[in-house]
Amino acid sequence: MLKLNNISKSFGSIKALDSVSLEVREGEVLGLVGPNGSGKSTLLKVMLGITKPSSGDVLINGKVLQEKGWKHFRKQIGYMPERVSFYDNLTGRETLNLFAKIKSVNGKYEIIKRILSEDIQSRKVGGYSKGMRQRLNLAQALLNDPELLILDEPTSGLDPMGIKEFYDILDEVKSRKNLTVILSSHILAEIEDKVDRVAVIKNGENKAVGSLEELYTGLKLPLKISIAISEANTMLEELLQEEGAEDIRYSKGYLVASVPRQSKLKLLSAVLQKQNSFADLSIREPNLEEVFFGVH
Ligand code: ADP
Ligand code: MG
Repeated sequence: MLKLNNISKSFGSIKALDSVSLEVREGEVLGLVGPNGSGKSTLLKVMLGITKPSSGDVLINGKVLQEKGWKHFRKQIGYMPERVSFYDNLTGRETLNLFAKIKSVNGKYEIIKRILSEDIQSRKVGGYSKGMRQRLNLAQALLNDPELLILDEPTSGLDPMGIKEFYDILDEVKSRKNLTVILSSHILAEIEDKVDRVAVIKNGENKAVGSLEELYTGLKLPLKISIAISEANTMLEELLQEEGAEDIRYSKGYLVASVPRQSKLKLLSAVLQKQNSFADLSIREPNLEEVFFGVH
């Protein structure tokens, strides 16, 4: 539905986006993941038409968007900005009415009451918890019953319970209509089971895009093996090395190493021959964060 072609954006000497191409598919949940300052918010604002790219095109259903097209397209989008200020003296209901007026919609979409109960809507926004403010922010984004929902770091600052509640609500909204959702986060682990595909944004570039499975296999990332041992074991170390493992080291009672995918079975069968020399063993997919952002 929405396609970005070689989008670049500079703010003076800062290159916030560097030739980003990305396609958003109808009905999917697409995650934008990247560290702070990597360009996620700028990219979302380009999709919304709030920020004009320095170069590149935004296409809707195959057509480059011009001014008139934006006006029409924007009516179908709901946007939850990263930071939003509300008037503390207004109640939630008054706030939503105000947003509905600004957007020229009647705002009577019934999902709103599920997001923010009548009781909470009657209270002044000044007394809202972080979670309630976030729900109010989501509710205002849904006032126009959008086809595309753009959420900028929607769960940042929420506790685990708040995060779960937020995604439960999003699931409910999605189950009612074929909504396309784009959301950003600086923590992949927080959204990895909530998204159909992710785009990895770093230094303003789109480094990779696909389902997590596609990314893992496409990148041919090595697997991580951990062998629980009570003391250093050179025999196992050498065995791992012979079988093609790399980055072999000890960490908190484990002998850990990276294993190329194609060596997995052969290495495992060799290690299992030495079963009595270790207590336990696990082999897992690497974390994309480890790969892209150098987080260990
Ligand atoms: P993210 O959302 O991933 O944290 P942003 O898109 O907010 O990243 O920012 C990307 C880069 O562009 C940062 O270096 C930021 O300082 C810069 N930037 C964003 N908006 C502006 C602006 N309006 N003026 C100047 N620099 C900006
Ligand atoms: Mg941001």
